[in-house]
Amino acid sequence: MRRPAILLLLFVIALAVPLVVSSNYYLRLVNLALIFGLLAVSLNVVLGYAGQLSLGHAGLFGIGAYVTALMTAGHSGTLFWPAFVLSGLVTGAVGLLIGFPALRLKGHYLALATLGFGEIMRNLFFNWREVTHGMDGIGNIPPPSLGFFAFTGDTRFYYLGLLMLAVAMLLVHRLERSKYGRMLAAIRDAELAAGVVGVNVPRLKVTAFFISAVLAGCAGSLYAHLTSFISPDVFVFDVSAQVLSMVLIGGIGTTWGPVLGAVVLTFLPEMLRVSKSYYQLIYGAGIAAMIIFFPGGLLGMARACWRLLVAKKAPEDVLYASTEPSTPPADAMSPLPQSRTGSSALLVAEGVTMRFGGLVALKDLALDVREGEIHALIGPNGSGKSTFINVASGIYTPTSGRIAFANESIVGRKPWLIAGLGLARTFQNLRLFQSLSVIENVLVGCRTSDAAGWFGVLASTAKAKSEGIELQRMAEEALNFVGLAQFRDRPIRTLPHEQQRIVEVARAIAMRPRLIMLDEPAAGMNPAEVDRLIERIRRLRDAGMTILLVEHNMPLVMKVADRITVLNHGRKIAEGDPSSIRDNPEVIEAYLGHSTRKRLLQHAAS
Ligand code: ADP
Ligand code: MG
Repeated sequence: MRRPAILLLLFVIALAVPLVVSSNYYLRLVNLALIFGLLAVSLNVVLGYAGQLSLGHAGLFGIGAYVTALMTAGHSGTLFWPAFVLSGLVTGAVGLLIGFPALRLKGHYLALATLGFGEIMRNLFFNWREVTHGMDGIGNIPPPSLGFFAFTGDTRFYYLGLLMLAVAMLLVHRLERSKYGRMLAAIRDAELAAGVVGVNVPRLKVTAFFISAVLAGCAGSLYAHLTSFISPDVFVFDVSAQVLSMVLIGGIGTTWGPVLGAVVLTFLPEMLRVSKSYYQLIYGAGIAAMIIFFPGGLLGMARACWRLLVAKKAPEDVLYASTEPSTPPADAMSPLPQSRTGSSALLVAEGVTMRFGGLVALKDLALDVREGEIHALIGPNGSGKSTFINVASGIYTPTSGRIAFANESIVGRKPWLIAGLGLARTFQNLRLFQSLSVIENVLVGCRTSDAAGWFGVLASTAKAKSEGIELQRMAEEALNFVGLAQFRDRPIRTLPHEQQRIVEVARAIAMRPRLIMLDEPAAGMNPAEVDRLIERIRRLRDAGMTILLVEHNMPLVMKVADRITVLNHGRKIAEGDPSSIRDNPEVIEAYLGHSTRKRLLQHAAS
């Protein structure tokens, strides 16, 4: 079945629900499922898209409920609309507050901090009696009304809730598919790499918390108007945990999963109540089993079944484990429209020292990379090569020293700002965005000057659409340039190692950098693959890029480098063209060793 047909079918079913469900009790449950669906969609924005675990969503839900209750209790239902908007905004503002700790805290620590936030909120609702009436709660919250039409009763409320949920899902779906969705996925999959391809990590995380909190606040507002009474015991940790289960069981990181999870987990306990004594046990064990055995959730299960039974397709891994040629045909590589030449120094480091506690990884290093050259940085393992790249790309701040790129000091600048200046890099240990496809990985690196903002993306404006097309074109250009066009839609993990390394290169050049720092790009490659790599590196230079090449593979370095800097124990011991390095006695002693020298000489002679 095609997607529009499925959506139409779901729409018709959704409209018919109140006609089929005649019992008021069950209709109330349906409405609660809608509201919890909205809350699960909200949690999914931070947890599923940005990879940040929050255990405090009950607190946000409560803020939305209290704001709307305080504004409307005992008043007309028409006040619902401004109160609904304000609930979202106030809760969004609080979301910003919990977004900031998320910048410093990761994983379990963030979970604990948000858990603490939820508890603080519950205490506030309970103890701030003058405003919240403590345990007495707030009653008389009117049903929403529009002019003379009041959404009284569960049937009317259902259509309002359904509309709100549908709008939220549409917006979140647009977000997921947009450049911002890709950036959030990049942060979730490999935060460090996201930063160096230009993603402003803190800004995106905080925005995700804001959006999530707005949605949670809206859900809280709807809840208050549905039940007409709220008290602190509704907004407890259980709710946060339950919403987390909904997201995990339904399908984390998807548009429909959280809603599916909300529906199932709202009704399942009711169904299980028949076996009164075992209900908690079955419920708990069921959730645990689902999370362990079906990490993709119910939606993932449904999709896998669909592929196997209806579409009769093999699972992805089988599909791609074929013997597809890993060498792109020569004409698969297209040129990249770019050209800059010059011989001035592009990257200049002076007196750079980097200490890790007592260990000195770089000692008073001076290095200059001239525009247009291929500059190799070599040295034994642990001599500080990767540390230099980390320092130059803003991952570490050097203990002392100056580094300038294109005449701008970059010491202390954040990685995404340095990337924005045109300094790109790859990683020695691959850091790709595993949940994204090849082209999506590259797209994270692409930027247009005519950028559509969050509003453009959510409203799907013409500008946002044309920007999307432009970004797509840029990513394809980068893929064509490295000859990976044929892998464009493949999931990263199905690619052979060589291709994964090249995707990192493509992702870096998609930023149209002036300088690209390659950290051991040939690691793990066989000789034929290394030859293809040499070809690609030369093409990068011919396209106008300057290259800093960190490499272990001496034949490769000797073949492509214009100049070489040799490090040993964090100090520069030699610098010069390949032939002078080859013959430098200190380098031979400290690094190459006699046997290597012999091989190199033979290599040069052949
Ligand atoms: P290379 O890339 O030349 O093999 P590195 O730059 O990775 O070497 O490492 C240089 C030295 O710095 C090594 O002794 C390494 O253990 C140390 N080092 C690198 N990063 C860190 C870190 N984050 N914390 C502590 N020590 C580090
Ligand atoms: Mg290294």
